[in-house]
Amino acid sequence: MKIAVEGCAHGELEKIYDTIKCLEERENIKVDLLLCCGDFQTSRNEEDLRCMAVPPKYYDLCSFYKYYSGEKIAPILTVLIGGNHEASNYLQELPYGGWVAPRIYYMGYAGVINVGGVKIGGISGIYKKGDFMKGHFEICPYDNSTKRSVYHIRNLEIFRLKQVTEPIDIFLSHDWPTNVTDYGNKEQLIRFKPHFKDDIEMRKLGSKPCEDLLNTLKPKYWFSAHLHCKFAALIPHQNETVTKFLALDKCLPKRRFLQVFDVPHDENEEIKINYDLEWLTILMTTNHLLSVKPETNSMPGPYSDERNCFKPTEEEKNIILSKLSNNLTVPENFVQTMKPYDVNSSNKVQLEQPGPLQNPQTTYLCKLLNIDDPIELILKNNDQNFSESNLSLKTNHSSSNVVNSDCDLEETSDEPSFINDTIVEDSPPQTKRSILCLPEPKNDSNDLFFIDTEPSSCDNSWKRKSQESVDVKDEIVSCKPDQKKFKRRNFNIYGSGDNS
Ligand code: 5GP
Ligand code: MN
Repeated sequence: MKIAVEGCAHGELEKIYDTIKCLEERENIKVDLLLCCGDFQTSRNEEDLRCMAVPPKYYDLCSFYKYYSGEKIAPILTVLIGGNHEASNYLQELPYGGWVAPRIYYMGYAGVINVGGVKIGGISGIYKKGDFMKGHFEICPYDNSTKRSVYHIRNLEIFRLKQVTEPIDIFLSHDWPTNVTDYGNKEQLIRFKPHFKDDIEMRKLGSKPCEDLLNTLKPKYWFSAHLHCKFAALIPHQNETVTKFLALDKCLPKRRFLQVFDVPHDENEEIKINYDLEWLTILMTTNHLLSVKPETNSMPGPYSDERNCFKPTEEEKNIILSKLSNNLTVPENFVQTMKPYDVNSSNKVQLEQPGPLQNPQTTYLCKLLNIDDPIELILKNNDQNFSESNLSLKTNHSSSNVVNSDCDLEETSDEPSFINDTIVEDSPPQTKRSILCLPEPKNDSNDLFFIDTEPSSCDNSWKRKSQESVDVKDEIVSCKPDQKKFKRRNFNIYGSGDNS
């Protein structure tokens, strides 16, 4: 199966599909799946834009809304994770994943799916120490603080992903795992991005929890974005396997934002999105660990009295399988929950952020697995709090003056103060946990290198709004070294020691 991977999309979906189409024609190939590594910007309309953490000058709908409205249909099955520039209100409707448009699937806060027998895992957002231990307390309309904290990754998702035992083929994260720079051409990276030098030396470029995940899951491939450059690395593991890491740039002319590669897949399997049985089981057995409060939400550590290992047992997986009537296909149950942007609408009054919505896709999955929709929990809590004391939960977390450094497209803003920095695994949970009636668990890889193509002949397909014509640099990866003669920029990395 041929998979195209894309760095930061920044709303330019139409351009990405155009570039792939052109590449397919030029190389005589068919791309089966597109993976997008965040900053996707699923804004359905102008209200959604106001939920995105960017200064107003970047409120640009670009092209996603056309795929949401049905004006266009995604030509390739597309899978995305979230980054730090998202219509967070829309993504929050789908905490466990779902269709943001027909044929465009979001993986949720974290997730694992199967596509044609290839197991793909992913985590949305970026790491910020001060928010890591909190619950998913944010709800729209956001203030300046929650507009940013909403996309900061949480310990719950890392804990859940660490319970996965079946081998992951591909993993996606928006920010890079820390220290991947040790296993690639660091000097070249620093020459290209000198402002990364200090962070690299201090070992804080990227996400520590993602490094931890990379070393636990040891996927065959790990793709990231966010730092706006291409960088490849081969990360060895103690069990002698390696993870091929590749970071890609953002979708801009002359930038290396796209890579195509071949992955062996099960020819008998249709290329469609399937639930991963192990992942759904983990979602079910860890539901009681979900918190929607801004206070520290500790995960059970090795010395807890409560269950701390959620590696699914056969018995637990069978419970889920029977709930799904043995059918793991993700239903094509996309529905619009908000009106898409209307070009003809003359209603250009002062626009506000919309309120929270519950998405029927989430309601369906939550009912099936008997798990909670975080948005529903917050709304219930807010109702309760309102009737009890006329106070909303929102007042707990908005005062601070730490300057945010999440991104490029940023204005100076307030960020929550970093009070709860220390990770205390065994401190008593503040969230009330339900008693689970599930039993404790009993005891419980292809030759490839990346090749760069010559400057693309796709140039004509890329016309900016200003009508300037630009050339697009695209990339191809193949698992067959003799397949095509391209310039082999990363051959040294990917061509050796790579057969295990
Ligand atoms: P975004 O597109 O998310 O707004 O911005 C990403 C940009 O933020 C990157 O181009 C990169 O320069 C910067 N950035 C993100 N994380 C880090 C980091 O950990 N260290 C440094 N030096 N820059 C970062
Ligand atoms: Mn980003």
